[in-house]
Amino acid sequence: MASDNGKRRGFSRRRFIQGAAAAAAASTALGTRAARAAKPTDLPPGHTDADIILQNGKIHTMDAQNTVVSSLGIKDGRFIQVGDPHPGPRTRMIDLRGRTVVPGIIDNHNHIVLMGNRPGYHTPLENAYSVTDVQQIYAARAAGLPNRDAWITTIGGFHTNHIADPLNPAVRRFPTRLELDAAVPNNPVFMMISFTGPGSTNSAGRSILQAQGVTVADNGAIAGGTQCSRALLYLRQTLLTPEERRRSVLDAMQYAVTIGVTTHLDQGAFQATNTTADGAAHEDNYTMHIPFLEVYDQGKALIRTRINFLHMESDPNTPELAQRLKNAFPFLGNEWVKTGGIGEFIAAGTNPAPPLNSPFPDAARRVARANWRAEVHSLGRRTTQNPGKPDFEFELDGFLAAEVERPGVVRAQRWVIAHVPGVHQDWLDRLEKIGGNLSLTGWQYLAGGFPGTALDAPYAGPPFRMIVDTSRRPNGIHVGMSSDGMQIAPMNPWLHMYFATTGLNTLGVLINPKQQITRQEVLSLYTRQNGWFLREEDDLGSIEEGKLADLVVLNSDYFTVPNDDLKKIRSVLTVVGGKVVYDGGVLDLRD
Ligand SMILES: [Zn+2]
Repeated sequence: MASDNGKRRGFSRRRFIQGAAAAAAASTALGTRAARAAKPTDLPPGHTDADIILQNGKIHTMDAQNTVVSSLGIKDGRFIQVGDPHPGPRTRMIDLRGRTVVPGIIDNHNHIVLMGNRPGYHTPLENAYSVTDVQQIYAARAAGLPNRDAWITTIGGFHTNHIADPLNPAVRRFPTRLELDAAVPNNPVFMMISFTGPGSTNSAGRSILQAQGVTVADNGAIAGGTQCSRALLYLRQTLLTPEERRRSVLDAMQYAVTIGVTTHLDQGAFQATNTTADGAAHEDNYTMHIPFLEVYDQGKALIRTRINFLHMESDPNTPELAQRLKNAFPFLGNEWVKTGGIGEFIAAGTNPAPPLNSPFPDAARRVARANWRAEVHSLGRRTTQNPGKPDFEFELDGFLAAEVERPGVVRAQRWVIAHVPGVHQDWLDRLEKIGGNLSLTGWQYLAGGFPGTALDAPYAGPPFRMIVDTSRRPNGIHVGMSSDGMQIAPMNPWLHMYFATTGLNTLGVLINPKQQITRQEVLSLYTRQNGWFLREEDDLGSIEEGKLADLVVLNSDYFTVPNDDLKKIRSVLTVVGGKVVYDGGVLDLRD
């Protein structure tokens, strides 16, 4: 299923038609620019002048040969000439000044729909390395708030293991109430890690939350579990209007483009109960996409979103999954937003110890009968607490059951198992025979190997080296990369790339020895290989003529910076579909 020549032939014809339309639109929209340029009628229909040319860069195309070029052209939202662009009278020229360019990063497993439905002004802290960093990020956020009632929130996506005490960097902790007051004296603040905390708040937040029955310690600490969930429920029930959800969606998109993640495959939420049983990963699976679709309808979207449907029923008949498969369509939509498959759960009962009566195998058969894609997650564990079959093996059995129901479905529909920290070679061999595939994530970077956290050496992975080597065999499994952000893990792909290439956790301890892969390899997983995971390898994942023009200009050279500087990589210019969706102000974009 590599590139399809028929499709490419069709593409030229479509581009011919779009080109004429775009030229007509440009003549009215560009105003003064058009006045000093040739009239559109001077250009022949089907002309190949680029709309935009980027030049003088180190453009890593991530094509099959890992070609690097210095310039490229974009026309009508797609790459038109890679390496030898044709300027025309109206072409906008951008001088890259030697900067490194990579394809738009694709995250094949995250939860950006949850992030876009956070109550309050959710403010990512995944790039904060100290209490001082948190204070700076929050103070900047507070400066942009509309009024004193607006909440600053950070609900998941970061970990206190990342946040150093200002005086003793080996100590990692939440900021205290007074430290938060120093940064945000007027507005209420609430932060919590993971699904249900613990968390912290400032003085303004504490008085509001205490009035709601939340127990807050004098230093602002809020215990994990019911106390954090009570605070979260209150914020959701009082702050989440439709307008606020759309604003939150735009905030999430805005953050994504600053770190270069241009396409997201969302893996759903646990179904909300609107009680304190809900944590950060709960939302209403039947309404949470609405603000995203509205933002797309309004033409304001900055990223591409692909939407999986999560089903986690314990009813053996999985009635909601049955209805989904009857009433929805996989892979329906447009280049910006479309549906995906069923995932990251298809039924209850695989994590951490599947019960013998799990509906999972029947759900797998059901998904196979409907000829959909299934994506599931595996933490690969078998511990003394959970002595049952490891979830990965249980899922392999489910995939086999699906194959009996509909032979070839796993390979044809590209079924996926995600995360896989503890897989063994034997499991990979079995998955390869069935035609299954793996999405890898580096979330152990944050928590693996910490005091109070069992290191579980075999589970500190995934074993990137073993898996990537296995994928190179003829008919090998396909492998992609993902963040599993934004509750237990950061979205920032450069942190996950740091972990995959160094094996080091956030304290600098080597927790994944002998399993490192190269920077070229992990970037390929995050770009070219992930195009395949979306079933969009003809359109996304590399900088090649005819593909959608998604790219990121980086603030430093990913391929040569010291390891620690990988974490500091950001976009200075992000382009999606030929449109500048983020301009860090470093390049001169005047024409
Ligand atoms: Zn997930």
